[in-house]
Amino acid sequence: MKSQLLASPGQRVGTSPGQPPVPARRNPTRGRFAAQHRRRMFRTDMLTVALWASLAAALALWLADGGMSSVGNLTQAVTAVGILAGLAGMDLVFLMLLLAARLPFVDGAVGHDRALEFHRKLGKPALYLLLAHGLLLATGYGMAEGLNPVSEAVALWTLVPDMWLAFVSMALFIAVVVTSLVAVRHRFPYEFWYFVHLLTYLAVAVALPHQFSVGGLFAEGTWQRWYWLLLYIGTGSALAWFRIARPVIATYRHQLTVRRVVPLVPGVFSIEMSGLRLNELSGNGGRFFVWRFLAPGMWWQAHPFSLSAEPQVGKSSRQPTLRITVRNLGAGSARLASLKPGTKVAIEGPYGVFSTAARSREHVVMIGAGIGITPLRALLESTPFAPGQATVLLRCSSTEELFLGDEILELCRKRGATLFHLTGPRSANTQSAWLPASAGTSRLRDFVPDITDADVYICGPSAWPA
Ligand SMILES: Cc1cc2nc3c(=O)[nH]c(=O)nc-3n(C[C@H](O)[C@H](O)[C@H](O)COP(=O)(O)OP(=O)(O)OC[C@H]3O[C@@H](n4cnc5c(N)ncnc54)[C@H](O)[C@@H]3O)c2cc1C
Repeated sequence: MKSQLLASPGQRVGTSPGQPPVPARRNPTRGRFAAQHRRRMFRTDMLTVALWASLAAALALWLADGGMSSVGNLTQAVTAVGILAGLAGMDLVFLMLLLAARLPFVDGAVGHDRALEFHRKLGKPALYLLLAHGLLLATGYGMAEGLNPVSEAVALWTLVPDMWLAFVSMALFIAVVVTSLVAVRHRFPYEFWYFVHLLTYLAVAVALPHQFSVGGLFAEGTWQRWYWLLLYIGTGSALAWFRIARPVIATYRHQLTVRRVVPLVPGVFSIEMSGLRLNELSGNGGRFFVWRFLAPGMWWQAHPFSLSAEPQVGKSSRQPTLRITVRNLGAGSARLASLKPGTKVAIEGPYGVFSTAARSREHVVMIGAGIGITPLRALLESTPFAPGQATVLLRCSSTEELFLGDEILELCRKRGATLFHLTGPRSANTQSAWLPASAGTSRLRDFVPDITDADVYICGPSAWPA
């Protein structure tokens, strides 16, 4: 390991003699980030409330329609549970779509990755509820008519208008959830999974007719019908605006063009882009965009990459520029090394809370590994802290992998941050440890004693910080 502790310039840079370093605030409800932290926590709570309220509202639709009064025997109870399962299942599907819609309110509260994590978690319960809906209704209706569930299902398909669409919708939901299971997903290219995933929209659309034409809950003229229609329209509009219209507008507004590709080490390179109105993107250091480079063979692949520097927009910069730093972790990212200057770039974003927006305390700790070091470079550039209040730990297996290391060193010197290089392979005996073998029994606290009083940003391969 090459562990480097720069004498913290906290005492030398930016503080005048006699002026003590700003003490850590132990309580995130005080200090300059307190208000934004409280707002973010409030928004997170509101999201949880909205989620449960929408589920309760879906069930209340049936109760308000006098659902309970229709339950007098086992057959009716089975049918009633089937209806409730369908309502709850569809509500979860709407929530899943909204979590994936990149709503700024959701992204700003919990961040894009946690929103998608929750989206994934809802997948199985939603499918189970929709399957239960189909099975229980086939059983309940069958019991009422003296048919077994299979014969009843066939009768529903052939005799009831719009019901065949419900079967198609169910088949599409099953395909989407099965191809999203981790074990299955990794067998297929990302694009295959992505296009199957788009079938969710078709599944939701073709499920609508039978909801409105079968049963009386959503009959014409009922307020339940309007509520359900509003869910459809609201979710569809959010997706159309945030997933399609906003990226198209941002792409047109910023007119990004590749300026140059700068190799750092073999397999790692920075892409610099120039564009318009980049000042609107300042303050997003550390956040990511989804990039689509409009060159032959590349335009159909969209890649999430974080900014590795704050947009250069000041008077001193000749041409406003943006920068990302890419490691060739697959065929698509490797191809980007050959991008030609002048290539147009489409963008979505910025997304995520890997930024000052997530700050809650005065002290900040930034821990990066591999290519995950590069977003820290952008965050370090802009996030506020007083000299002596930031610690940066860079973990990599060789000094060659200290991507943008010189720039980070320079920024740490300038801003008064303490920097550690944690370089070298892990110990053969403790593969689970995150530190290099030469760090011995050191722990995170040995590098950052006051870590419990700091905001900690971690960026690296997904298995690394686990
Ligand atoms: C939030 C975020 C920020 C990132 N920032 C950086 C960065 O700054 N620098 C860097 O080098 N790498 C970054 N990555 C990783 C980078 O996106 C992938 O390594 C890269 O997209 C792989 O593309 P590929 O075609 O070479 O590989 P493949 O594995 O073949 O990927 C094929 C397709 O899947 C897409 N894809 C793969 N993984 C993901 C994913 N997790 N989310 C969405 N789409 C995905 C790719 O964009 C591509 O279209 C980031 C990933 C995420 C999720």
